[in-house]
Amino acid sequence: KGRVVFDNAGFSYDPDSPAVRGVSIVAEPGMTVALVGPTGAGKSTVLNLLTRFYETDQGSILLDGYPIESLSKEWLRDHTGYVTQESFLFNTTLRDNLKLAKPDATDDEIWAALDNANASPFVRELPEMLDTVAGERGVRFSGGEKQRLSIARALLKNPPLLLLDEATSALDNETERLVQQALETLRSDRTSFVIAHRLSTVRNADLICVLEDGKLVESGKHDELLARG
Ligand code: ADP
Ligand code: ADP
Repeated sequence: KGRVVFDNAGFSYDPDSPAVRGVSIVAEPGMTVALVGPTGAGKSTVLNLLTRFYETDQGSILLDGYPIESLSKEWLRDHTGYVTQESFLFNTTLRDNLKLAKPDATDDEIWAALDNANASPFVRELPEMLDTVAGERGVRFSGGEKQRLSIARALLKNPPLLLLDEATSALDNETERLVQQALETLRSDRTSFVIAHRLSTVRNADLICVLEDGKLVESGKHDELLARG
């Protein structure tokens, strides 16, 4: 599960200038696909076509063979982990924050998700661990910690598809490391699409897609792209 096919897909916010056009990508289950390219290239738009936040208006997108428009937004929400730059935590315990994704999650499942997101080391340092209150009125976590908690929350659903949007923090070393780690640990049975600014951040991705001006200008593994210059 988690096979994603973009076939000549596109989307226009403005009919005169498509934001994404003619994009074809095949992601086999378990692959990590990185979307790189300059600001405005269309990376976030591509990611948001997979949530159906925006509807493809050119070509098609298939998820395990189903045209994406045939899948309800609710179904997609349940089967997709979506982590954005603005990771948020509510003023409640970490356990409750994480259980938002899966209300019946057990503590064992929560710890497994925290492990996979590289969040368990700092959570274990907290005196009350999962009972620690987060958010404005509780412990203030660093940006990187919040993102890891947010990844853990997304993983708790065990979604076949994980979308990671780190677009805005090009120069943030902590985020870069986080994405690198995520690429190493998240490659299991799930397909991930990850937005990154720098090629070096995603050198371990199974497929790197370089977008420019809404078009897929190159794709391949890190070393292949470097060899082609
Ligand atoms: P990236 O994620 O690579 O920075 P985006 O997908 O955000 O690129 O943007 C692609 C293009 O679509 C850009 O030209 C951007 O200005 C435009 N765009 C993005 N979001 C919107 C929007 N909500 N309304 C209109 N145009 C948008
Ligand atoms: P069933 O397969 O018995 O209908 P599911 O809960 O597996 O029950 O699926 C419900 C609906 O969700 C399916 O009819 C289909 O539209 C969609 N669906 C199921 N599995 C997938 C999948 N791997 N990828 C995309 N859509 C799926």
